Amino acid sequence: MSKRLEGKVAAITGGNQGIGLGIAERFIQEGAAVSICYRSDGEGSERVAESLRAGGGKAIAIQADISKLADGQRFLSETVSQLGELDILVNNAGVEKRASFWDVTEADYDFVLNVNLKGLFFVTQAMVRYLRQAKRPGKIINISSVHEELPFPHFTSYCASKGALKMITRNLSIELAPFNITINNIAPGAIETPINKNLLNDPVKLKSLLDNIPLRRLGKPEDVASIAAFLASEESSYVTGTTFVVDGGLTWNYEEQ
Ligand code: NAP
Repeated sequence: MSKRLEGKVAAITGGNQGIGLGIAERFIQEGAAVSICYRSDGEGSERVAESLRAGGGKAIAIQADISKLADGQRFLSETVSQLGELDILVNNAGVEKRASFWDVTEADYDFVLNVNLKGLFFVTQAMVRYLRQAKRPGKIINISSVHEELPFPHFTSYCASKGALKMITRNLSIELAPFNITINNIAPGAIETPINKNLLNDPVKLKSLLDNIPLRRLGKPEDVASIAAFLASEESSYVTGTTFVVDGGLTWNYEEQ
């Protein structure tokens, strides 16, 4: 396989597990140097960075809670000071909180929106300021969800954050095009990661979900990572402002018995 990201530097929010880690592993295979951030598990994240370096690639882990504006900005500035530059941002960090709409608390709402929307917004702003100042082109990839389109009852705050991502991406594709900065979303369906641990441990719920997926399996982080690698590479140079759905056919599944 030819390495499509040789010489590039990528920052991936929340890259210490799940989809973010799958993307970090793929980017390293493609020749990029990678920076991941984590909220609290310093030791675990260091181990992850070490395993990413095992094949000779460059990888670092930085503590940063992206729901705090200053942490998000520091994540990028430390990445640049340790890895020399920055070409690709993957906005992957995301959280969800289940509650019926009438029970959602202000704390639940802030927990979800401050990471998925405010955090992403200001990390992206820090990336754009850096690229403009450095006069460099860039690639921004948002890990959105099929729930930027598809309802998900009892997860309205999550859906609101992912729906907002669709418009952020459309808007910024226009505003950032003059600087040769592209921005796209990936919308995963059901991917096997720790965020879905309750579902994975419930055989009845899992079967009902699988019955809704035409390809009859959950996705893997690698299924998302291969699209991320394409969007981070020059192969996608004419692609901006759009969403790539990676869902085994879930979103448009409809069949009459
Ligand atoms: P995950 O396994 O729970 O991983 C989430 C990552 O985000 C963790 O590394 C976590 O780090 C990090 N994170 C959370 N809040 C953060 C914060 N404030 N600052 C920095 N890092 C933070 O979830 P995942 O399934 O890989 O999800 C990744 C993205 O894909 C999310 O945006 C999610 O909405 C989206 N997605 C997932 C699925 C799916 O089925 N898995 C489907 C559609 C979309 P800590 O552990 O340190 O908190």
